[in-house]
Amino acid sequence: METNFSVQCPYCGEQIWMEFYPEDGTHQEMVTDCEVCCNPILYDITFKGDRPHLRVERAQ
Ligand SMILES: [Zn+2]
Repeated sequence: METNFSVQCPYCGEQIWMEFYPEDGTHQEMVTDCEVCCNPILYDITFKGDRPHLRVERAQ
C-alpha cells in the first residue's frame, strides 16, 4: 500500500511529502508545521480498502 503522500500546504501551496503507515491505525490525525511558512497543517488520513484517503487543512 502507498505510504508516501504528496500534499500541498493549504497556506503557501508548497509541495510536502509525508509518510503514513496503516500499521499506526486506520484513522490518524496529526498536526505539523509547514517547513516553509511555519503554519500548522492538520493531516487527517483514513486507510480504508486499498486506497488511503488523506485530507489536509488549516489547523487554526
Ligand atoms: Zn506552507
